[in-house]
Formats: sequence, structure tokens, C-alpha cells
Amino acid sequence: MKIIIIGAGVIGSTTAYYLAKSGHDIEVIDRQEGPALETSFANAGMLTPSMADPWNAPGIFKTLVSTIGNPHSPFLLRLKALPSLLGWGVSFLNNSREKLYIENIHRSADLSWYSVKLLDELRKKLNIKYDQITTGSIKVFRDMESLEKLARLSEHLIPHGMTYEVLKGNDLLKAEPSLEPVIDKLAGGVHFPDDQAGNAYKFTCEIEKEAMKLGAKFNYGVRVEKIIKKHNDISAVRTSAGDMTADKYILCAGSYSTPLAKSIGINIPVRPAKGYSITVPLNGWNGGPRMPIIDDGFRAAISPLGDVLRIAGTAEFSGLDQSLTSDRLANMYDLLSEIYPDFAPYFDKDKVTEWAGLRPISVDGSPYLGKTDVANLLVNTGHGPLGWTMAAGSAKMLTDIIDGNEPALDPKKYSLNR
Ligand SMILES: Cc1cc2nc3c(=O)[nH]c(=O)nc-3n(C[C@H](O)[C@H](O)[C@H](O)COP(=O)(O)OP(=O)(O)OC[C@H]3O[C@@H](n4cnc5c(N)ncnc54)[C@H](O)[C@@H]3O)c2cc1C
Repeated sequence: MKIIIIGAGVIGSTTAYYLAKSGHDIEVIDRQEGPALETSFANAGMLTPSMADPWNAPGIFKTLVSTIGNPHSPFLLRLKALPSLLGWGVSFLNNSREKLYIENIHRSADLSWYSVKLLDELRKKLNIKYDQITTGSIKVFRDMESLEKLARLSEHLIPHGMTYEVLKGNDLLKAEPSLEPVIDKLAGGVHFPDDQAGNAYKFTCEIEKEAMKLGAKFNYGVRVEKIIKKHNDISAVRTSAGDMTADKYILCAGSYSTPLAKSIGINIPVRPAKGYSITVPLNGWNGGPRMPIIDDGFRAAISPLGDVLRIAGTAEFSGLDQSLTSDRLANMYDLLSEIYPDFAPYFDKDKVTEWAGLRPISVDGSPYLGKTDVANLLVNTGHGPLGWTMAAGSAKMLTDIIDGNEPALDPKKYSLNR
């Protein structure tokens, strides 16, 4: 079957791989000059089923309102974004009710866990390298109450086969010696040994190459301008390189999937939440972390990715705006200097790469996978803060749906009409 995929981020490229492997004739379209040059480019690199708890936990409304006007807040709601958030925002807040929140954790944990196992298989079978780390992640806390809250929440991961360990003082240092300079300020941390990490950009480039070996074609520098619908079918996509046609079309355009789908009357409840990162060369320093460290207070993480440190995080609701703001970037620099004061002599500001990307946030923490009300249009989008974590699982599930095979997880739980 001929299938057009819109978007060559980590989601579109991994989808292209699984579909090409299944024998389909794949064409991918992306407006950028290569794979993963938007949100999948410089994320925190963590593969963290442990972070299956969606952002909209009970109490999120108060948290968000308190951020308005505070440019340093880890979460930030900009007033200009409010009109675009209205309908979506009601569902987002509704999903923060305790019962739904717990259900949402389990749905997201199922997909994340499935996905990371598939990624392991891919890495071994294809022998691909992406600065992978398989020693877990550590979430650190400055106050006991937050540490205990996460420990209670982590109980929900146990039925999925994941483990965790609450660590304090010397035990925390044994797991992650690089925390030495701040250990006295920390109430403790939680180590999730099943988590992994790696460079999502490098992975996407590798999987794109594997998809190409299987015959997939990637059209770069080509923008989808319009989706053309006739009756209840897509008849073509109008692009900057002319009209392109296929039997089926899959939207994998991250946060831009929503406006593209809206133009043909399909509602994808996804809104962008901007996050930032700085990528800092180690410059010969060997005191860095062995695994990603997530600092809950900063809502940001420090990940060792080969010969660089990536400091990434925070969330800003400001619409489809990818610009860099110095106040928001300052959070990343602050976290680096706070946790690793010893790095100062090695730090070279001229070699830092600053970046921002738009996480496609669904209303309940899980992506939308599968069919839409338009007969030959499918979606694979809305992965929010876990798109790298969920990429392989989402792509395999979508391939199974298209091929009429039974997916490993209940597809109704991830459908657009759930
Ligand atoms: C700061 C930050 C940290 C993060 N950390 C992590 C993490 O540690 N772990 C994790 O799992 N996830 C993380 N994420 C989330 C993850 O990066 C995203 O969920 C993921 O990259 C989304 O991938 P995507 O392929 O859906 O979107 P994208 O990577 O944005 O890809 C969409 C593609 O569609 C193309 N496109 C859009 N519109 C058009 C058009 N009209 N025509 C042609 N092409 C188009 C774009 O060019 C783009 O290449 C983080 C995100 C941010 C911002």
C-alpha cells in the first residue's frame, strides 16, 4: 500500500521504518532539510517510562494560574496563549481529577514500557548507536514532602514491571557520585533503574537510514500547505513541490498536526508546550553524571549524551512560537551551575547550543494513534514530554492497526475518539 507520512521527527521516521519493514511503499514529507530538526532535535534524551504521570496532576489549575507573569517559573502560562487553549484547557483540567489521573498514568506507562522494550530490540537488531545509556535515571528533591509524594506515585509503576528505589545521603551518592557538591541540599532521590537515555536526534537519523534501506523515500524541504479532502477521503496533499497522492496518509507533524487536521474538520486535542535546552560540551571534564538527573524543583533534567551535557526542561504555553527567551534559558544555566559548581572552569559559553521545541501535549498524557473520521487519514501524534520514549511503541502499534494485526496494547485506549 502507498502511504504518505507528514513529518520526519522521531515519530514520523520511526513510523516510516516499521511500515516499510512491513512491506508498504512509504513517502515521508518534511519541511525541514533533514530528519528530527524540530521538537525531536535537542530534547532531554530520556527514555523514561518512570515519568508516565501526566503533567495535569490534581492541583494543576492552581499551579498554572500562579505562573502567569513569572518568566522564571518552571511552568509558564502566557496570557496571549489563553484563547487557543480554551476548549482543550477544559479537557486538560478535567483529566486532572484523581480517578482519571491514575487511569492516565497506567495508559501512558503501558505504552512507554512497551516502547522502550521495542527500542532495545531495534538497537540490538540494527546495531544502531545513539549515545545510549541503560543505567536508569534519578529524580532528586530538595524537600521530604515531594520525595515522599513521588515514592507513593511510583507504586503505580510496579504492576507494569518497573522498579524504583528511594535513596538518601550516601546511598544516593553511591548510585550517582556526581551529586556530591549538592548532597547536603537534597532530601533524597528516586532511582529508576529501568529507565534509559540517548540522543533522540542521532536515533532518528539512524532509523531514517534504516527506513530508506527498506525503500522509504524522504522528501525534505517540502512543506504540506493543504490537505485536500473529497467526500470522506483525502485525495492528495498539496505541497510546495506539487500535489502528492497515496492510498493512506498519516499525520506525524507534532504540534502542527492540529492546525493541519483542523483545516479538514478533524479535531486533534493537542496544544504546544515550549521547552528549552542547552547543550554544553564537557571540554574534558569527567565529574558529570552517569545517568540523567531530573531536578523536580527546576522541572528540568541534566543528561549525559556522549561528550556533551544536555540540560533541558520547563514548559511554557505560548502557542506555536519557537523563539528563544533568555529568561527561560536562564533556568537551564542556573540548574547546571547549581548542581555542578565544579564544572565552572570547563564551561565555555561560546560552545553552548541553545534550543527550544514544542511538545505536542494531549489532554490526558497519551498520544493519539490510529484512524480518524476521514477514511484514509491516520494520526500518530500528541506524545507530549515522552515522544522519544513512546516512539517505537506508537509506530509499531500504528503499523499493526494498518496491517489488521492485533496491536500489543488495546488500540481503543489510544484512539482519537477515546
Ligand atoms: C525541552 C524538551 C525536552 C524533552 N525531553 C524529552 C525526553 O527526555 N524524553 C522524551 O521521551 N521526550 C522528550 N521530549 C518530547 C519529545 O521531544 C517530543 O514528544 C517528540 O520530539 C515529538 O516528536 P514528533 O515527531 O511528534 O514531532 P517533531 O519532532 O516536531 O516532528 C514533526 C515534524 O513535522 C514537520 N512538519 C510540521 N508541519 C509540517 C508541514 N506543514 N509540512 C511538512 N512538514 C511539517 C516538522 O518539520 C517536524 O520535523 C522533550 C521535548 C522538549 C521540548
